[in-house]
Amino acid sequence: MSERRRSFYGWGYEGEAPPAGELEWFERAWAKLLGVERFDPAPMPRADEIALRAPRIAPPASLAAVCTTGHHARLAHSYGRSVHDLAKMILRRDFSNPPDAVAHPKTEAEIAQLLDWCGETGIAAIPFGGGSSVVGGVNPPAQAKAVLTMDLSHFDRVLEIDPISQAARVQAGVLGPSLEAQLKPSGLTLRFFLQAWEFSSLGGWIATRAAGHYATVYTQIDDHVESLRVVTPAGILESRRLPASGAGPSPDRMFIGSEGSLGIITEAWVRLHRRPTFRQATTVGFKDWEKAVEAVRRLAQSGLYPANARLIEASEARFTEAGDGTRHLLVLSFEGADHPLDTWMKRALEFCADHGGEWDAKALEAPESQRSGAAGSWRDKFLRGPYLREHAIARGVMRDTVETAIPWSGFLALERKVKDATLAAIREATGREGSCTVRFTHLYPDGPAPYFTWHAYGDKARLPEQFWAIKSAASQAMIDAGGTITHHHALGRDHREWYDQQRPWLFAEAFKGAKKRLDPLGVMNPGVIVDS
Ligand SMILES: Cc1cc2nc3c(=O)[nH]c(=O)nc-3n(C[C@H](O)[C@H](O)[C@H](O)COP(=O)(O)OP(=O)(O)OC[C@H]3O[C@@H](n4cnc5c(N)ncnc54)[C@H](O)[C@@H]3O)c2cc1C
Repeated sequence: MSERRRSFYGWGYEGEAPPAGELEWFERAWAKLLGVERFDPAPMPRADEIALRAPRIAPPASLAAVCTTGHHARLAHSYGRSVHDLAKMILRRDFSNPPDAVAHPKTEAEIAQLLDWCGETGIAAIPFGGGSSVVGGVNPPAQAKAVLTMDLSHFDRVLEIDPISQAARVQAGVLGPSLEAQLKPSGLTLRFFLQAWEFSSLGGWIATRAAGHYATVYTQIDDHVESLRVVTPAGILESRRLPASGAGPSPDRMFIGSEGSLGIITEAWVRLHRRPTFRQATTVGFKDWEKAVEAVRRLAQSGLYPANARLIEASEARFTEAGDGTRHLLVLSFEGADHPLDTWMKRALEFCADHGGEWDAKALEAPESQRSGAAGSWRDKFLRGPYLREHAIARGVMRDTVETAIPWSGFLALERKVKDATLAAIREATGREGSCTVRFTHLYPDGPAPYFTWHAYGDKARLPEQFWAIKSAASQAMIDAGGTITHHHALGRDHREWYDQQRPWLFAEAFKGAKKRLDPLGVMNPGVIVDS
């Protein structure tokens, strides 16, 4: 039986279509939100209608078996999955800068050989996990003389499990579903459910400092990494596996978030959890936004550490039909493998009640199988979201997110600034009204991670430029208001302009020094984090 192939331009596999009714539901929702009468979808691209530039390099005979210059492989590694990428693929058929070759190494020795070849011939090497980057992290840099994309899909095994310490040694190219399937017999789990979980890899999560579904404590992948193994152009580096260490700066921290600019992460020891058996979940409604924010701040500072605490603005909840638009919703849950969590939930709800929160007390007592309601409806739409993005773009609908983190004291001012700037930029770029809503994805005692979703109806002929104008305005507003350019979507090449405003100049110089030592010829993902 032939293996299923990933779509070269969308989410999911080739030939997959959204289930009947789903696309129609979204079409109706987009039409209502953006005041569009009828959509005229552009056809999806076909591999046989795209001509690619001839490869500018030919792998040497010793590496020919691990490299391909095949049409589909080069198409499928030309872009990540940002709205900008989708617009260029679907609306423009623009595959003018594909990688020249794609390597699928099976061993670290092969990776080292490939990096040597890149160094000797001045080829840029781009590590590729699931390819779900939304910031231009895997797109071949325009200035490169030639590009070799290193696809890590063969590094897909859980190698060792330490059940006593609750940790596992895992190869970096494994995608979310395969990782959890391999861990399942042990009763342990990483439980790192980011929205792109199906098509993103452990190495990608580490390289981008991704954030999973936990709203508190284990928010970012940093909190799960015990140690790393990295193949750099200068040699292999492996950190000591420890639960914690005060021995100077952490070697792991240098590679977590390095986005392929220093080397290729091949393995990591990661901390695991026992599968949760106790759960408490409910949805709390608030009429007043500022009171809801205040309730969530108290919760974040209480030491209760909910697994989920997504505060969703009323208009966003209405769009996904999780609510009717009259209430802001807090999707709240606790989970664990050791003890009942009723007391935690009870105390959390006291904070909510103090700030005008209301919930269905009866639903909380119902068996878990009967509890779906607003939280279930919101989650279902959230998980299906990635599959709909290509269809939105084909209809000229831009739906994107910008996300940040900010101390509580600065949140309301940042919220106003980002929304005003985004809505003004939508008007300016498209000549129409759009929408911009917010929710909290992750919470810290000193501040939230606000996640802004914007929708705009663009002109299909100019969509990449319109998108970029809106994204730029939103990004600059986050920086101007004191936030970070990203809480978890990483930097890639797309966020460099704002990252350069955020990070200390001397840190950039120090990082360049480290890069020079590990990657003396500058082959590793040039242009990401710092200029080469
Ligand atoms: C629909 C959608 C939803 C998303 N939701 C979330 C979310 O909830 N949370 C979140 O954090 N992110 C999210 N993202 C962003 C993206 O999924 C993350 O950045 C993810 O960590 C990327 O993993 P990947 O394996 O796909 O990496 P890739 O896209 O393949 O690569 C990302 C970067 O990491 C580098 N890299 C990849 N593997 C390695 C390696 N082994 N060694 C060194 N460098 C490497 C690449 O060179 C590139 O710079 C979402 C993206 C999409 C499209």
